[in-house]
Amino acid sequence: MSLGGPYRRGGKRRGPAKVPTPEEIARGLKELKGLAAPNANYRERSLALHGMICAKCAREFTAQDRHLLTVHHKDGNDRNNPADGSNWENLCVYCHEDEHSRQRLADYLTGRDGS
Ligand SMILES: [Zn+2]
Ligand SMILES: [Zn+2]
Repeated sequence: MSLGGPYRRGGKRRGPAKVPTPEEIARGLKELKGLAAPNANYRERSLALHGMICAKCAREFTAQDRHLLTVHHKDGNDRNNPADGSNWENLCVYCHEDEHSRQRLADYLTGRDGS
């Protein structure tokens, strides 16, 4: 009995493995992030569409403090992200907080506890 008789055909390899370039790796990572959070880019789109300015207090933002500018969903549904931006409103964190505390108050006053 001979091990590796006719079934071992000379250990032929498929040539060197393809090594991805750094650009290809970066592109792959971006695609992965996009898949993990399909809505993650609506903020960027909203800022691009409506400009880096708060829709309420008209405070303008720059690249340095743009993290303080957030995107509010007018209908309250953060999965409703039409490409034309009609459900988005750029609000600074203060106005955004205010907007939502008003909503909670309205819910309370109308008897919906929104739990
Ligand atoms: Zn504001
Ligand atoms: Zn909001």
